[in-house]
Amino acid sequence: MDKILELLILKKGEGSDFCNRRLIVIQFALIASVVLFSLFSIINLFMRHFDAAAIDLISSVVAVLAFIYMKKSRNILLTTRIATLNVVLFFILFAYISQAIHFSLIWTIFVPIFAIITNGKKIGLYFSLFFYAFLFTLSYQNINIWDSGDWLFTDWMRLVLASTILTACMYIYEALLDKAQKELETARLKELQRTKELQQQSITDQLTKLYNRRYYENMTSKLFSLAQRQNLFITFFILDIDYFKTYNDTYGHMRGDETLIKVADTIKKHIQRGDDFVFRLGGEEFAGIVLSKNKENTHQWIAELTKKIENLHVEHKASKILPYLTVSIGIATMSPNDNNDINILYKYADKALYSAKQSGRNQSKVKQDIE
Ligand code: GH3
Ligand code: MG
Ligand code: MG
Repeated sequence: MDKILELLILKKGEGSDFCNRRLIVIQFALIASVVLFSLFSIINLFMRHFDAAAIDLISSVVAVLAFIYMKKSRNILLTTRIATLNVVLFFILFAYISQAIHFSLIWTIFVPIFAIITNGKKIGLYFSLFFYAFLFTLSYQNINIWDSGDWLFTDWMRLVLASTILTACMYIYEALLDKAQKELETARLKELQRTKELQQQSITDQLTKLYNRRYYENMTSKLFSLAQRQNLFITFFILDIDYFKTYNDTYGHMRGDETLIKVADTIKKHIQRGDDFVFRLGGEEFAGIVLSKNKENTHQWIAELTKKIENLHVEHKASKILPYLTVSIGIATMSPNDNNDINILYKYADKALYSAKQSGRNQSKVKQDIE
């Protein structure tokens, strides 16, 4: 079965989608119409039913043209409409010529099936109603005439009832399929959204909404290659809140959390260029990676953070330096060469931070030139 479907799809992979069943049906129907119409045309020719042979031939040619057009233009919608119109017109003429002899109108069941499956429930129904308007009128007018007078009112009623029930069934089937497809699509979108949210959550620190340590570990190698490609300095800094333990002891853990958010927001606002990243490494420790051409400017810019946080004037009575909350920063920079290693950079930034703490806190220190 898969092999047959493979032959019918336009491009590899297209038919695997459940939505493409219409495409498969239309192609199959076009190929089947070409074969059947040509066969009937030859049979009718031999049986000297020239008018029927001509109709079969025309329908066959239209089907061939529609198939070629679809393959070339890939305009599936227009091809579907043409193919359906071809089928509808063929069966109207077929009914007219065959005159219900030998139960021939049974073939007309293909009209609503084909029209609704390929065109969808609404347009398919219009095609079917258009067809039946002709068929029912024609066959009604020929009661007691067709089939050498054997085509009776009861036969006509049977045709109308069976056709109506079949069309209704097709319509309901297609509507249910549409609904199922929509529900599937909604579920898929929801799933996609949820996956995105989870992905975002997995790299975000829940309290401060900065990136977390995991993201820091994932991102560093990417930032290193970016710095190398663009020949930029890569600067790493660690920012640590001064006397935060005593802050928690004085104001409570909840206030501590609120203050962590404030500090995180201030860092985020200050370091906000596209290629720069700030993280919460854990506890009251934050970090950032900044790529730049001029490292001195970058150092100065990062150093401004100490003043910014001091100027928030977050009360910290127990601090040994100021009555406000302060931070210390350790900064280290690497030039973009192949020996770069984030662990070395981290180590040096940590050393610089230690030095800032030792020198009295509320300041930044740079660990100069690591090559
Ligand atoms: P220093 O100036 O040397 O950095 O001293 P410090 O007290 O800030 O450093 P220390 O490492 O001794 O204490 C860090 C404190 O940070 C300990 C803990 O109470 C607090 N802390 C860590 N994580 C959180 C958190 O998620 N919320 C709150 N409120 N406090 C935290
Ligand atoms: Mg601290
Ligand atoms: Mg700390």
